[in-house]
Amino acid sequence: MIERDHKSAAFFDAAAEDRLVIRRCIGCRQALPPEAVVCTTCAGTDLEWVQAEGTGLLASYTVVHRAPHPAYRVPYTIGVVELDEGPWLYARVNAESPTVGLPVRVAFRHPEEGESFPVFEEVPA
Ligand SMILES: [Zn+2]
Repeated sequence: MIERDHKSAAFFDAAAEDRLVIRRCIGCRQALPPEAVVCTTCAGTDLEWVQAEGTGLLASYTVVHRAPHPAYRVPYTIGVVELDEGPWLYARVNAESPTVGLPVRVAFRHPEEGESFPVFEEVPA
């Protein structure tokens, strides 16, 4: 189960509202992944939360066949999504046959227990 902490609270609050948020450097405007604490361009630490479009390309993926926890149903796909804004995001991927470069779009799961979380789904051709 996913649990929030003070660094991830804004991310999960947004996910509960079907919004994907990422970090952006206030100094140089560089878009950064949600877990970023320092800007990779200017080393600035003043970061803000901004809403992402939620679209991107599947950069890499793996299919999990052995459940890390009894609550997980296998198989499922974990991928690295390159967002249109630039940052890479690790996330669940829901695609019939995942391939590198596949266009994906974010959707959200709202489990009865635990935090809402993003899942990237194949964009219908
Ligand atoms: Zn910066």
